[in-house]
Amino acid sequence: MSKIAVGTDVEAYCTKCKMVLAHAVVALAGTKPRRVRCNTCNGEHNYRATKPVSKAASKKTEKGAAKKTTTRKTRQSWEEVMQEASAKPHKKYSMSGSFGEGDWIEHATFGLGCVQSFVAPNKITVRFADSTRLLVCNQG
Ligand SMILES: [Zn+2]
Repeated sequence: MSKIAVGTDVEAYCTKCKMVLAHAVVALAGTKPRRVRCNTCNGEHNYRATKPVSKAASKKTEKGAAKKTTTRKTRQSWEEVMQEASAKPHKKYSMSGSFGEGDWIEHATFGLGCVQSFVAPNKITVRFADSTRLLVCNQG
């Protein structure tokens, strides 16, 4: 960052040109420009880094930003998963059936469940609404 001194060109908002333009520093306040002269219209005025924002406009922006950061529900409830799964193809569970990981099965007693893993040679762990169960498969 270059040191700002009287005479240095800085970007500032010109109150006459109504835009951010190059200005020459006329007076300093500490290390920051206090008064500047517009290189375009030669008007001298207090230093403003950017266009002044009206209170109403900034409030609107804040509201918009807050809305954007609202966290989306990422975790599906089991009910939602079930609802989605019921639309997908699923197999009727039987001990003689063969099932793989990710398969949806319909159990006569426990209802709809998702195969979590296949335990060689003839068992599967299935997640049902109430619990995860170990079921037998590949029999017969
Ligand atoms: Zn100007």
